[in-house]
Amino acid sequence: MEKERSHKAQKVIERLGKKLNRQIVGSLVSCVHCGNCTDSCHYVLANPDDPTYAPAYKADKIRGLFKRHYDWTGKVFPWWVHAKSFYTDEDLEDLKDTVFGKCTNCRRCTINCPMGVDFATFNRMTRGLLVSVGVMPEGVAVVSKDQWETGNQMGVLKEDYVDTLEWLTEEMQMEDPKSPGIPINSKEADVVYSINPREVKYDPRTISDAAMIFNAAGENWTMPSEDWDMTNFGLFSGDDDLGGSVARRLYEKVVELKGKKLVISECGHGYRSTRCEGPNWAQHDVGFTMESSVITMIRYIKEGKIKVDKSKNTEKMTFHDSCNNARSCGLTEEPRELLKLVCEDFQEMYPNRAENFCCTGGGGAMSMSEYTPRRLKSAKVKADQLKATGAKYVVTSCHNCVDGLTDLIKHYKLDMKVTQLVNLVANALVIEKPAEVPVDKVPATAETVPVAAEGGSLQGYKIMVADDEPDFVTFVSTVLEDNGAEVISAFDGNQALELARKEKPDLLTLDITMPGKSGIEVFEILRNDDELANIPVCIMTGKPELRKLIYDRAVRPPEGYVDKPVDEDSIIRNVRKILELAKDKAK
Ligand code: SF4
Ligand code: SF4
Repeated sequence: MEKERSHKAQKVIERLGKKLNRQIVGSLVSCVHCGNCTDSCHYVLANPDDPTYAPAYKADKIRGLFKRHYDWTGKVFPWWVHAKSFYTDEDLEDLKDTVFGKCTNCRRCTINCPMGVDFATFNRMTRGLLVSVGVMPEGVAVVSKDQWETGNQMGVLKEDYVDTLEWLTEEMQMEDPKSPGIPINSKEADVVYSINPREVKYDPRTISDAAMIFNAAGENWTMPSEDWDMTNFGLFSGDDDLGGSVARRLYEKVVELKGKKLVISECGHGYRSTRCEGPNWAQHDVGFTMESSVITMIRYIKEGKIKVDKSKNTEKMTFHDSCNNARSCGLTEEPRELLKLVCEDFQEMYPNRAENFCCTGGGGAMSMSEYTPRRLKSAKVKADQLKATGAKYVVTSCHNCVDGLTDLIKHYKLDMKVTQLVNLVANALVIEKPAEVPVDKVPATAETVPVAAEGGSLQGYKIMVADDEPDFVTFVSTVLEDNGAEVISAFDGNQALELARKEKPDLLTLDITMPGKSGIEVFEILRNDDELANIPVCIMTGKPELRKLIYDRAVRPPEGYVDKPVDEDSIIRNVRKILELAKDKAK
């Protein structure tokens, strides 16, 4: 007589039967245990003595269940084909540890299997079976709930999202009063732009960079105020219902706005979910075209809609292929083509394209904190790949990879930063300026020596640079001094306050993370001190995610905000602008 089975185990077995299709069954029956796939897996490379990480071993756990219940061989010769059933909730927990904690669904083993076994596909299916009975890592439950309830996987509220877009528009219009900024909910736009919630929450610069590119190209574009998330946690959790619901919301929003094309910002799983898998999950006949923003940007350059100058991106760069873009969507050549158009020094990483290793943060791994030590250990091969390039920047077309790579770069102490193509294209943009009026043609009543005029001197201005990185202080000070300013330096928060009181600078550039008092504390003290409140402040930080915090807590927002790395042009442009505004205010 067969052992008693838990309710959850019984449900998982029943649901497995409903998920079987040609592709899954083909993969479940065709493994010949040749071991070809073993070394494809980054987990195996980091744990060579532990067979439980081998793709075929992991697959056999699911295969055993299939053979036991749905394949005739398992019914007739169960011992021969290793058929095995699940009985207890502990069996399901053990399976959870394998399918969520030992595989990122990267599909590298898939492309290295001579028999065509697609383990990642049935690993995803198994995740879905477990999720359907509530067995999943806590992070998966939280993110799935957020996406079900708010429509985006980071739980960004509509007012915060719209506030961010409006604030970015204000910033763009401070730079250029004629800028259209970010159009929201425009009807019949040629392009509806959809993003990853990470961009709103942690990296708004990618949104303003994209906006700058659309506007420079003269595009008729818009962003929806709701149902804008192109990521889809259903891909990671294996929950096709969630996948369908999320994809459907976005498709219906484009239809409601009468948009002609949906452009998907740089995100591997978002692109795969929205463009490739979503129509099936949502059972939605999509009547508009969908395009990766990478292809949009190449198109603009080729059609002459935007001009770029690659000499603006001089550092050595390499490219990391996101697994979803490269292995599942074939998007390998376009990012390289674009990268070569906007940067001077490109160094390929090996292996690359479809053979590239996962950033190790894929498959939802970044949301499963219990597996972080395993993830970082398995990232060794990626760290070695990156290091061998000697590049200063790794470029990737995926927000998930940005987080995975940033984490491993920190863990393995690599001297490298992560960026995306949109940032490089925006930085390389050549914006045609209106022809300058010769000085002798300027009417006598006009301000002839405005501080903010191109090339205007900073002579007579006292500027304080507060930052705990001596190299950064030296660089910014040199740029300012070369333009005529008197510069005072402070290397921590307390010193910045002390010198601000003593010297009363005309402008303070302020880092956020400093010893003693942080830049946020310094900023708050300044703003609440009658004597110092009017000193204009320009935040210069490598922590864009803290931007909102400052704006939320500020009595009056900072006059300027520049993301590191900074360059000479951005320092001078922002400083002049702030001083010009301060001068206008004082009049
Ligand atoms: S390469 Fe394919 S057939 Fe060989 S062990 Fe791996 S999954 Fe099985
Ligand atoms: S899909 Fe990727 S992580 Fe999963 S077993 Fe295959 S190679 Fe390893």
